[in-house]
Amino acid sequence: MFRLFKKSKPVKIRSYHESTKYGVAAKDLKELLKKGCSTLKLSFSGAHVCLYSDGTEVTEEFFQTLPDHTELVLLCRDQTWSGVVFDISQLLNTDRHANDLIEAAKGLLSDEQSPKRRKILTDLLLNMEDRSELESREEDENWFKGVDARFKTKSAYMKFNCESRIRGYMKDVENTTKTIQKPRVRANFLKASKRLAEMLKTARYNGCYFDRTEKKPDRLCTQEGWFTCQGSFDQDMCKSLHSINPYGSRESRIVFSTWNLDHRIEKKRTIIPALLEALENHKATDINLNYFYCQLFTRENLKLVHIVCHKKGAHNLLCDAKMIFGQASNQNKGSRKAEKRKRSLK
Ligand SMILES: [Zn+2]
Ligand SMILES: [Zn+2]
Repeated sequence: MFRLFKKSKPVKIRSYHESTKYGVAAKDLKELLKKGCSTLKLSFSGAHVCLYSDGTEVTEEFFQTLPDHTELVLLCRDQTWSGVVFDISQLLNTDRHANDLIEAAKGLLSDEQSPKRRKILTDLLLNMEDRSELESREEDENWFKGVDARFKTKSAYMKFNCESRIRGYMKDVENTTKTIQKPRVRANFLKASKRLAEMLKTARYNGCYFDRTEKKPDRLCTQEGWFTCQGSFDQDMCKSLHSINPYGSRESRIVFSTWNLDHRIEKKRTIIPALLEALENHKATDINLNYFYCQLFTRENLKLVHIVCHKKGAHNLLCDAKMIFGQASNQNKGSRKAEKRKRSLK
């Protein structure tokens, strides 16, 4: 009798596997199960319903208390739902549903008004439209848009990108020469700078750091091309867990240019002045140029950092005075080995 007067409650229902939600109106749980099963083409026997948000099982009594348009999941016998968190872990398992999810996210984005949700969706799309497994220009033309035609593979371009940055550091050393007044010191500095340039050329400008086809200790990224922020100069690691794969999309490639290969001991403020000072009173041959080379151009002193982890203020780190001169070269090797040992222990 009473049932006749009960109002239908509109809810949104989806299945375990499909994220599409359907609007269904039902007076009670039994009707909801019937309608839901027929809409989602699921077997009625054993079917049950729970809250999408946290997986709470919906009983007849509970159903009556639900607000209109509550999001529910219709489950088959033996299926359970642990709520949104489970949905996110499924979402991250993108290999299986990648294309469906990209389409779904695009659909949501097309009529999303909130800037915050737009940002979340575009970031999600950016990360899911990952074409990093493609390497050549023919395979992924879009990635190469705006990249000089001589680059045929992503790795070749990324290697060049790293080289250019490091060549820029060499330019800073070379430009210092012009600012030196005393001819003798200038000649000394020029000699040192030429020697550094030779060393750098031999190491092929350390372009290997960005090249995912290189061997493990030489590249800073994974085989797939993922780079992880190494944290600001005064931190052991990045607390924000920044990461990026510039091989994945054109946009990521461009955004990667805001990532910095940052000198822990600062190049212009500290290393170059220390080199200059040493050369004021010593011949270029007395200087431990290998030490300066490592500080200026190698990962011994360079950290790849997300722009947020790139602190612009003074680092207040000094060159190691014991390492500056040639006689320290044996000690140098020893302590570098120790440094390596320290690192491999991490
Ligand atoms: Zn970071
Ligand atoms: Zn910096």
